[in-house]
Amino acid sequence: MLTKSRLAIILSKLKTFEKPKIKLEQYPTDSEIAADMLWNAFMTGEIEDKEIADFGAGTGILGIGALLLQAEHVTFIEKDPDNIPTLKENLKLLEKEGFDNYTILNQDVTEINQKFDIVIQNPPFGSQQKHADKEFLKIAFKSADIIYSIHMAKSETFLDKFTRDEGFQIAKKWKYEFPLKSTYSHHKRRIQRIETLGLRIIKSKPF
Ligand code: SAH
Repeated sequence: MLTKSRLAIILSKLKTFEKPKIKLEQYPTDSEIAADMLWNAFMTGEIEDKEIADFGAGTGILGIGALLLQAEHVTFIEKDPDNIPTLKENLKLLEKEGFDNYTILNQDVTEINQKFDIVIQNPPFGSQQKHADKEFLKIAFKSADIIYSIHMAKSETFLDKFTRDEGFQIAKKWKYEFPLKSTYSHHKRRIQRIETLGLRIIKSKPF
């Protein structure tokens, strides 16, 4: 049986962006954070046997974690073709263990017109592409009733209102210190940590 710490170790060995593109806000989720959020979802019964989408999959850490935690199927959606070879390479490691229950879509999330049980995402925070975080959430709301998503903590008030306006609610949140390499931070320190929130967002029940 996989444990949370074992999951974090496996995820830490995956390859990440070779040449991250600042414009697309390509920052990988830290393996400890990915393992923690996925573990919370798993313990809530929202991974095993579920149809999962990984929006803005990058090199696949979130979706791969979901596969390891016995998701029924994972759809990886990533618009940058330059990331697909690394994503495939990471998935090759799983193929050896017999996993073939996934699909890769080299598409923009805004083109997605499919339903899933759960969407898991670490969307662009919206610092380079204005409102990208909002766009990702909008599509996620159309695609699933349960969403796990990572955002800047400073956007919390906005996110709270935005999710409610869209008929959803933030049901749980976890604080994560997200490590960003200096390419993104514009600071001299090699790694800067930014305050983020992992959110479990669910569709509100009608009165
Ligand atoms: N999910 C990965 C990557 C997060 S970075 C991880 O957790 O490590 C955000 C990713 O979203 C990048 O790979 C970027 O190329 C991708 N992306 C940005 N805008 C997108 C869009 N409109 N549609 C699909 N992917 C997008």
